[in-house]
Amino acid sequence: MELTALGIYGPYPKAGGHSASSYLVSTDRANVVLDFGSGTVTRLFEKIAFKNLDAVIISHSHFDHTSDLLPLNYLAELNPDKKVKLYVPKDGNNWYLKLLIPTSFEVIEVDHGDKADINGIEAEFFAMRHTAKTLGVKIGSGGKTLFYTGDTTWFDGIADYVKGVDFVLADAAKPIGFKGPHMGYDKAQAIYESCRTRVVVTHLSPDFDPKEALKGTPIEVAEEGKTYLI
Ligand SMILES: [Zn+2]
Repeated sequence: MELTALGIYGPYPKAGGHSASSYLVSTDRANVVLDFGSGTVTRLFEKIAFKNLDAVIISHSHFDHTSDLLPLNYLAELNPDKKVKLYVPKDGNNWYLKLLIPTSFEVIEVDHGDKADINGIEAEFFAMRHTAKTLGVKIGSGGKTLFYTGDTTWFDGIADYVKGVDFVLADAAKPIGFKGPHMGYDKAQAIYESCRTRVVVTHLSPDFDPKEALKGTPIEVAEEGKTYLI
């Protein structure tokens, strides 16, 4: 299984050709995109053709995770024979659903504990803690698993969620003491202690890169365009 970081910034992309939250998970049978922030369309279709996009999983309704679903509409309109599966948290605030072309998407509402099989990519959803209803997702394929936190503050349950996984992509790139509903990079260390595996922090503020602060630790900072083999 491969994970490509299409966009790593939030709450808006850094200037100069960068993108907000979006990650492509690929196997030889399926392509699934985790979140769809601004800049996703241009990055995603450098990698795969629209016809090979099987599903999009949305962690929560915030714009930096959903806004490129709007231009995806136009691409979908040009491909009427294709229907993209769109997994969304069961949440009355899914504003973007009102703007999508209903015939182009198969919307599947999910909640904590739900599971899905997308052409051999197994997904399991977990409640996170954020200002919007947010689901993290555990993705499994070929005996390997990754956990993507979506946006969240720290809570002890995260340690349980990541136990035994092979790779963690965590919203833990903010400065220590950050006031918003995200984790500071110090929490990445707590995640690492729970899973002792590869931990990559993401959702970078455009004006803060934790790379220097994490030097000498096992924690990695997500790099846009980079593909991680899991
Ligand atoms: Zn958010």
